[in-house]
Amino acid sequence: MEKVEILKTKRKVLKKNEEIASENKQFLEKHGIKAIEFLGGPGSGKTYLIRELVKEIQDKYNIAYVGGDLAGKHDAELIGETGIPALQINTGNMCHLEAFHLQDALEKLSLSEKTNLLIIENVGNLICPFQLKLGSHKRIVLVDPSEGVEKFEKYPVAFLNSDIIVISKVDLAPALDVNPEVMVKKGKKANPNAKIVQTSAKTKKGINKLAKILET
Ligand code: MG
Ligand code: ZN
Repeated sequence: MEKVEILKTKRKVLKKNEEIASENKQFLEKHGIKAIEFLGGPGSGKTYLIRELVKEIQDKYNIAYVGGDLAGKHDAELIGETGIPALQINTGNMCHLEAFHLQDALEKLSLSEKTNLLIIENVGNLICPFQLKLGSHKRIVLVDPSEGVEKFEKYPVAFLNSDIIVISKVDLAPALDVNPEVMVKKGKKANPNAKIVQTSAKTKKGINKLAKILET
């Protein structure tokens, strides 16, 4: 195939995704549901942070969860333990969620009239999920101290396209000889408009702060 044709096809796919993403957003807004999307590399601590966040705010919000992974249902089971409806999407060989995945999930999830917060966990990946909108209102990207402070410079698109940057697993920072403040500084440089929070799902540090930021 000609290079130009490949480019055209890619644009078409992206355009279709944008259309579905905006349908998703309309659906969510019609039903009074705020959707926040968690992103980050594999093992950056998304699911465990979400679990602690859910525990923190579930008396205030009526929450539902949808998580994307290539296989298995580990994350949905873990989040389901909190008692909220949790659905796992298996993407097979796809390294990201697309808007149609969320559209399917919105049909399958047992959303009640009261549901007002949807938490979406994307596939662990710092690259393509940031180029594909799902229809969420806010994006939160996680980066943990073991990933190296150079992450911010290596994946600029991820940080530029996020509203909140979470430095996760900060309880591990001393053992790794990483100063979380340096990560905060790098995060600010990567996206001066993003809010930055240091968290630990283990010690519960920052969970409360993250919950407050989500209210804004
Ligand atoms: Mg996970
Ligand atoms: Zn991908």
